[in-house]
Amino acid sequence: MATDLYLENQALKRQQRILINQARKNEQQLRRIQSQEIRFISTNSLLELIEQILVQYRAIAELENVTLALIDPEFELQRILQEEGIDLNAHPDLLFFQTEEQLNQLFGLSLFPRLGDYKKSDHQLLFPKKQENTGSIALLPLIRHDKLTGSLNLGSDNPERFISNTATDFLERLAAIIAICLENTANHERLKRIGLTDPLTGVNNRRFFDQRIIEEISRSKRTTSPLTFLLLDIDFFKRINDNYGHQTGDRVLTDVANIIKSQLRGTDVLARYGGEEFSVLLINTSITDALDIAERIRERVAEYKFDFEDHKQLGVTLSIGMSKLNDNDPQKDTHAISHVLIEHADQALYQAKDSGRNQTRLFEITQ
Ligand code: GH3
Ligand code: MG
Ligand code: MG
Repeated sequence: MATDLYLENQALKRQQRILINQARKNEQQLRRIQSQEIRFISTNSLLELIEQILVQYRAIAELENVTLALIDPEFELQRILQEEGIDLNAHPDLLFFQTEEQLNQLFGLSLFPRLGDYKKSDHQLLFPKKQENTGSIALLPLIRHDKLTGSLNLGSDNPERFISNTATDFLERLAAIIAICLENTANHERLKRIGLTDPLTGVNNRRFFDQRIIEEISRSKRTTSPLTFLLLDIDFFKRINDNYGHQTGDRVLTDVANIIKSQLRGTDVLARYGGEEFSVLLINTSITDALDIAERIRERVAEYKFDFEDHKQLGVTLSIGMSKLNDNDPQKDTHAISHVLIEHADQALYQAKDSGRNQTRLFEITQ
């Protein structure tokens, strides 16, 4: 009898120890996840937030498979991320849907987390790779303003990690935080871009350009790589406005911006410098190559027929002034150098205008 009691007591003690250990482990896990939540909230960049979710959170939550699906009808989020330098093809754990249809089908009417066994036919869409060992999953709808904006998908090799009909308060809280953070960082990125983008043509504005020219001059000096600057001005643009109206003028400006952009590399910097004037920084480009690029832009614009309803034969030309960063420029101050670079291109542009327009001129010291 006494032995029975003793054994029972021992067994209870063992169980108690196991439970205490489990409770401690849970508490530690909760703390880690809470600090992770704070990290989510303090992130300002969309790319950084996504990395926090897919890499840091996955590790802390000890999950084998985490994916994030985002509804991105206008490809806007994808564009933002690409601009931040991410190769989306190398991220099968980041999924984009153009409409909410497929996710709505998964969640049905009630937008609550779905926990349960992994079923290939239903869930492969959200776990495109590494799903063979997945035992259980939790699909968390991300909701903002009563609308589904995406889903965070957690996959565990442990079939008992996510069991249907268990409490989901904690997961709902996580999903709410992530949904808000995604919206916040996307808004932050939008604001950043609005402030630095020309609303008519969609290319960078003068403010952006003024920052970049300083950075590029510094970089060019540091790496002793060549840097060329172009000022491109539409010829007789006032006549377009006078003859065809301001709206047609606006469309010509947008088309010209796109033609210039189409001839540049991703690393080059294009901006609307003023009314009908654009500026381009050709990064790490020799003067010979820069001349080729400038001439190609000029020719493309000259041969382009602006296909507007009433004015099918409308064409315009560009005059281009070029200057280059001088390797042994005695000026030390980057701002002063940028002024000289712009001033020289402006003088070359004036020469191009003066010699009959529709041509490219390079600023020469002897001028
Ligand atoms: P030039 O060959 O000497 O450069 O002649 P130009 O007519 O192009 O130059 P000018 O500086 O006389 O006129 C520029 C015109 O560009 C005047 C201005 O109304 C127009 N402009 C500036 N910004 C915009 C804009 O956003 N939209 C439209 N439609 N026109 C604009
Ligand atoms: Mg002008
Ligand atoms: Mg002009």
